[in-house]
Amino acid sequence: MNIQAIIKKAVKRLEVEGKLLTPDFYAEAFCKEATKAGFSVEDCSKLDKFRSMLNKEFQDELKKYHIKTISELSHFLISKLNRTNPSHCSNLLESQTAFTKRVLQVIEVLHNREAAELARKSLDLLSREASIAEIEQFRQSWINFTTTYDDTFLQKLKSFGEIDSSDLKKSVQNLNLTGVSCKISDSFELSKVASLLVSSLVPSIASDANEKIIQISQKIQNNPALLEDSTIEAEIKSAISLRIALDKQSVKDMVESIDGVLDRLSLRLIEMIESSDSSTTEIQKIKKELESYSNEGISTNFNIAHKKLYTIAVALEENTQALTKDLKKHSSEVSILSKKIEQLEVELEQAKEQSREDFLTKLFNKRALDEFMSVKEAEFERYGHNFTVVFFDLDYFKAVNDTYGHDAGDAVLVAFAKILKNEARTVDIIGRFGGEEFMAILGETDLDGGVVFAQKVRNKVKNARMMYKENRIELTVSCGVSERKTHFSLQNLVKSADEALYKAKKDGRDRVEAK
Ligand code: GH3
Ligand code: MG
Ligand code: MG
Repeated sequence: MNIQAIIKKAVKRLEVEGKLLTPDFYAEAFCKEATKAGFSVEDCSKLDKFRSMLNKEFQDELKKYHIKTISELSHFLISKLNRTNPSHCSNLLESQTAFTKRVLQVIEVLHNREAAELARKSLDLLSREASIAEIEQFRQSWINFTTTYDDTFLQKLKSFGEIDSSDLKKSVQNLNLTGVSCKISDSFELSKVASLLVSSLVPSIASDANEKIIQISQKIQNNPALLEDSTIEAEIKSAISLRIALDKQSVKDMVESIDGVLDRLSLRLIEMIESSDSSTTEIQKIKKELESYSNEGISTNFNIAHKKLYTIAVALEENTQALTKDLKKHSSEVSILSKKIEQLEVELEQAKEQSREDFLTKLFNKRALDEFMSVKEAEFERYGHNFTVVFFDLDYFKAVNDTYGHDAGDAVLVAFAKILKNEARTVDIIGRFGGEEFMAILGETDLDGGVVFAQKVRNKVKNARMMYKENRIELTVSCGVSERKTHFSLQNLVKSADEALYKAKKDGRDRVEAK
């Protein structure tokens, strides 16, 4: 359809709908027909474009008033603009802000630190473009301030004059502060201070008070009012220094006398330990010595320390005596027990020698494997029964220990032993030759059979999912196989299997070699 056809249809539509051919009605009809014909005319979608630029509230209003054309939209917006008077709003807001600022400036100079701080911060807030959330936060701070404000402290001043909490200036003028100083110089208060001072002058460590201190103490106590006299100050100061000096001297004396005693005591103890047989008599000597010190006229302070030391010596003496008795009583039991232990050790050693089981894997150990080989050898020599030996050596096993620890290594050895056991027949003999080396002795089996067995084990090991804690450990094994009948001695057979194993290792590991 071409544009002429659409225009014709638009005019026809207006006729059918009974509308006049005004530019608005025409534009509306044209857009409808153009859309119907599958044309996209930019002017027709302008309304949608403008509508999407408005906020949701306005968009809803456009729907409510059935606004369909650009011209209707313009009418709508013009009427909206006429209704609001922005200059009035901003004037009002400005004068309110200025007013609030003044109030805050007044609060700032009032004598309440918290309110002043809050006012200062609020002023800052009003001087910049603060967000609604910030303003809300400060509004809350002011509410908090007014709800927690407490001026009951003012009531405490009541005894000094009339308090009017709504007029602090007047309240301060009414205060009679002369009464306060009277209270401090009250003779009762002074005598309390005097007695405190006197008791603090008495030396706390030195046993005797000095004459000079006693004199001044009495002087103050008899006349507490002297404390207000400035001349007494120097006397009190010198009494305090004297008191400190006396205490210091006393401590020095005590430390010296205790040092002396401890020196002698430690000498005695060393002698006693050196001749431990006669310890009880030695401790008794110390006790006697300590007894004698108490007659040497040592100060009373030392007596306390001395008593403690004496008590220690007594306790030591009693304990040593009890210990000696105990030791004598139990010495025969102890010697019986130690003999038993010796015997058990011998038995343990024998048991170890006789053991045929590997402690870790529970397979046969090397001793047992040697014995089995001798039996197989005897059978071969007497009846010609062939047999095959397979040596297994785990590959890069040291790395397992180094990476995951020795416990992981042990767990891998146990896991390998299990695989070996599962793959072997009940008549097969399997054991741990040492370290990470294992051996199988397969009776009535030739070299090929031995290789098949070794390959089975090798495959199982390679595909096993060995887990230790969270770690998956990859493991492979190399094998050396030899049969008896192609070798001229048992020794030769073992050497040959060992060489095959060596070749398997050299050729890249994770393989079976037969020789
Ligand atoms: P290769 O492939 O050449 O055989 O390398 P490898 O690391 O297996 O051989 P190597 O002889 O260098 O190391 C053997 C390691 O086996 C060293 C030793 O610490 C470890 N081992 C031996 N006995 C035990 C045991 O009872 N427990 C544990 N955890 N490790 C053992
Ligand atoms: Mg090895
Ligand atoms: Mg190895």
